[in-house]
Amino acid sequence: MQLLGGIILAFSYFLKCGSHREEKPSPGALGEVQQSGLPTAMLSPVTHEAQEMQNFGEFDYVIAGGGAAGCVLANRLSADPDVRVLLLEAGNDERWIWTKIPVGYLFCINNPRTDWCYRTEPEPGLNGRSIIYARGRGLGGSTLINAMLYMRGQVRDYDEWAALSGDPDWSWDRVLPVFREIEDHWRGASEAHGSGGEWRVEQQRLSWDILDRFAEAAVQTGIPSTSDFNRGDNLGVSQFEVNQRRGTRWSSARGFLDPVRQRPNLKIVTGALIDRLLLDGRSARGIEFQMDGQPCVAKSRIETILAAGSIGSPAILQRSGIGDARLLQQLGIPVVLDVPGVGANLQDHLQLRSIFKVSGIKTLNQTANSLWGKAMMGLEYLFYRRGPLTMAPSQLGLFARSDPKVPTPDLEYHVQPLSLDKFGDPLHDFPAFTASVCDLRPQSRGWIRIRDRDPASAPQIAPCYLSHEADRQKAARAIRLTRKIIAQAALAPFQPTEHLPGPDFGSDEQLAVAAGNIGTTIFHPVGTCRMGQRDAPESVTDSRLRVHGIDHLRVVDASIMPTITSGNTSTPTIMIAARGASMIRADRKRHGA
Ligand SMILES: Cc1cc2nc3c(=O)[nH]c(=O)nc-3n(C[C@H](O)[C@H](O)[C@H](O)COP(=O)(O)OP(=O)(O)OC[C@H]3O[C@@H](n4cnc5c(N)ncnc54)[C@H](O)[C@@H]3O)c2cc1C
Repeated sequence: MQLLGGIILAFSYFLKCGSHREEKPSPGALGEVQQSGLPTAMLSPVTHEAQEMQNFGEFDYVIAGGGAAGCVLANRLSADPDVRVLLLEAGNDERWIWTKIPVGYLFCINNPRTDWCYRTEPEPGLNGRSIIYARGRGLGGSTLINAMLYMRGQVRDYDEWAALSGDPDWSWDRVLPVFREIEDHWRGASEAHGSGGEWRVEQQRLSWDILDRFAEAAVQTGIPSTSDFNRGDNLGVSQFEVNQRRGTRWSSARGFLDPVRQRPNLKIVTGALIDRLLLDGRSARGIEFQMDGQPCVAKSRIETILAAGSIGSPAILQRSGIGDARLLQQLGIPVVLDVPGVGANLQDHLQLRSIFKVSGIKTLNQTANSLWGKAMMGLEYLFYRRGPLTMAPSQLGLFARSDPKVPTPDLEYHVQPLSLDKFGDPLHDFPAFTASVCDLRPQSRGWIRIRDRDPASAPQIAPCYLSHEADRQKAARAIRLTRKIIAQAALAPFQPTEHLPGPDFGSDEQLAVAAGNIGTTIFHPVGTCRMGQRDAPESVTDSRLRVHGIDHLRVVDASIMPTITSGNTSTPTIMIAARGASMIRADRKRHGA
């Protein structure tokens, strides 16, 4: 009963006040060292650049960042009992209930306990707005707080990576076996899907009439219904599949770390704020980090692997003197290697959130704003692990072409049976739903830059949304397609009226401005340490994810994507990490390390 009370209370609290809370991580959790069997006796002071550092000892592999990719790397690399692996993570080994109950993302986002709480610079394309830029903090990284939607992307995404990197191993045909290997799909094993892997995929445990009607309306415009978004061509409309197990969130920490925590050759350290690489000339020898403000160092014998995500990994490289020489010189950081691609090439999906008022049909706005509705939601979850508390933020997905000339779908819809002005605000007090649409292949490119040498300073983040004219034109077409779906017979009985952006926006130019008003991130930053051939513009790693020009160093996370995938980005990142781990293990064998 206590759990139920807590769920209802906390849920109603969010709906009233939004999600922003100034909760601090519990002091006990900060600086906690998680052990998986290695002796603690390795701690001893060493002198480095005139500073006294705590020495964490020497490992074969040091992994920087325990997020989506970091947990996979820790799992796969420690599978060799004769290598010693260290995983460093700034956040907690999170056991908080809201990281398990799916709807808990409402409490985790914009909360410093689980989110880095970044913001973008004011964005000209968003009419000068600065928006929240959530990144998960804690074992599991962004999969601890994300929307749990399971999406591989399209054949063409990976074939393009193969072309850009010059390595056919990144083509769809070669990555499909990796997707299958990591997967534990509710359908079981087939040519398309895997079973028995660590990455659990389930169907959602709720349905909404309003979303079913939206799906019918989409079919009436000629968009087909589909039963599976993950076969390489995701055209169509369907319920999303989710990374959940029996109604609870399935983060990369649950899937990949929990089963191997007891391995004696794996050490997991939380509360470790990574500062920079330990370098010997142009060779990576480990990681310098802080625990409770105390400088520490962990050395790597074979390789150091950055897995701190699309914001964290380029920031660590820049603090280490690897980045655009002009930026490093401005900040007084000695240049180890001039690599302009570090922090460049930022790509993200901008979601345009159109909202429609309806009548004569239920939406979450009414249920969640009534005490009885909240009580029923709590009970449904408690007894059946079903209903709105299992809810991913979006339930219905739709992939479409913005133009008949485009060869494969370049728009993704996330349709929600609820509406609010912006994340963190209460739900509207009128019945309404949101049809959010993203440009899957934006041309705009942004950047990440550290502000100073302090690892605790948030970097500058500038996604530069809608800075390319082609993206502005596509935004206008996307809002028009949304209006076309809404105008179909299936939705007519519910008299949908456009609340946002509003019927006053009609011309292409007006719709591009409207996109700037209603656009926000769907939290998919990638590309800031892109892989590519050595002479390719802005390339940071080669196709085996080794940093060009620096020995014994790889980047293995979402930042290596040369172009953003046509869908949500956690599963592609987990595939990258599984492949990256195979490469690291193969290279060790080849070099006899
Ligand atoms: C709110 C939200 C919703 C999303 N929804 C979806 C979705 O529904 N489906 C989907 O597929 N994708 C979704 N994504 C995107 C997806 O979660 C990311 O693409 C994916 O997690 C990226 O993995 P990564 O390993 O590159 O980075 P992360 O998972 O972010 O991991 C990076 C890790 O490094 C740690 N780190 C960073 N810097 C440091 C430092 N200096 N010191 C120590 N540790 C550090 C972080 O704390 C974190 O644990 C969402 C993301 C967010 C934030």
